[in-house]
Amino acid sequence: MYDIAVIGGGPCGLACAIEAKEHGLDCVVLEKGNVVRSVAEYPVYMVLFSTTDMLEIGGLPFISGNCRPTRLETVRYYWRAVQHFGIPIQTYREVTEVLPTSSGFMLHTRDKLNGEEPVVFAKRVVVATGCYDRPNLIGVPGEELPHVSHYYKEPFPYMGRRVIIVGGGNSAAEAALELSRFGALTTVVHFRGEMDATVKPWIGAELTARILKNEIAALFHTRILSIRPQTITLSTTGDETPFELEADFVFLMTGYRPNTDLLVQAGAALDASGFPVHNPLTMETTVPGLYVAGAISEGWRVTQANIEKGRFHGKRIIQSIDTDQ
Ligand code: FAD
Repeated sequence: MYDIAVIGGGPCGLACAIEAKEHGLDCVVLEKGNVVRSVAEYPVYMVLFSTTDMLEIGGLPFISGNCRPTRLETVRYYWRAVQHFGIPIQTYREVTEVLPTSSGFMLHTRDKLNGEEPVVFAKRVVVATGCYDRPNLIGVPGEELPHVSHYYKEPFPYMGRRVIIVGGGNSAAEAALELSRFGALTTVVHFRGEMDATVKPWIGAELTARILKNEIAALFHTRILSIRPQTITLSTTGDETPFELEADFVFLMTGYRPNTDLLVQAGAALDASGFPVHNPLTMETTVPGLYVAGAISEGWRVTQANIEKGRFHGKRIIQSIDTDQ
């Protein structure tokens, strides 16, 4: 019986485990992939929006040659944190169910390497499973086609091809810039009249410049109606006549929503937006002893810079446990 089981080895789950260890709690982190899997799955050449100091956990300095680190530097930093603090993490261990018991929780898990299904017992559980596994679907015919994706990784497959990017946030803007730098014939489609206010200034400025130079086409006030191989159908607000564009590849950069299945199975309540109801001071859900940390607690509805905020959730959780005891 662990004192605390943390589900998810992202930056916020790791920060929580460091805090638990420092308070002498017997803790385990269960991660369905490898350490900071979500960060590892960012676009390959991504430079983070946050500066290194805003990503640090457990007070471990994050040293980089640049003030904003690359994806690779960031993954390496968190791996170093695991080693430095001796975080007890079990990788490739997916949690499939969390059940409250009279003395805490029973977690059903699956070892993704050997197929075994060990059961883990813990007095308290922190769900830190992030907000990156379920894309927001736009619900149009063709969304499931193989040339359509909700995740952008790298530019090489698209050089010289016609690429449509749907969305108005940082991910859409960054993908458009990188694709156009690598010779993709890039069009941004967004239902609003301009890119979102959350787009980082340095990214927005370059995107605007490239749109003005006709290096990137932009269709604002425009929605996709359907996707077919090599063609998409769209319509513009105010003039609903559908029109077509040729497209070899389509990226739907429309954000993500949390997978709350584990919380719901355990009996935790969700709010009207589908996020877990929790006490912001303790991060405890409506189920006593069941906590949330990191992006799953409020996803990107507040800010995209969620490592910056979520890395402190573990402190709130462990302090509230200390006070209880
Ligand atoms: P995650 O990092 O998503 O980690 C959750 C972990 O849980 C994953 O490793 C996942 O494999 C694991 N998991 C999920 N389900 C299970 C299960 N059932 N069993 C076991 N394990 C499970 N934020 C910033 O602060 N600064 C930035 O510069 C920044 N840049 C970003 C760039 C991009 C392209 C994207 C997409 C996001 C960016 N963010 C940034 C947001 C940031 O990545 C997230 O807010 C952050 O990853 C949240 O951390 P987390 O630990 O809550 O969740």
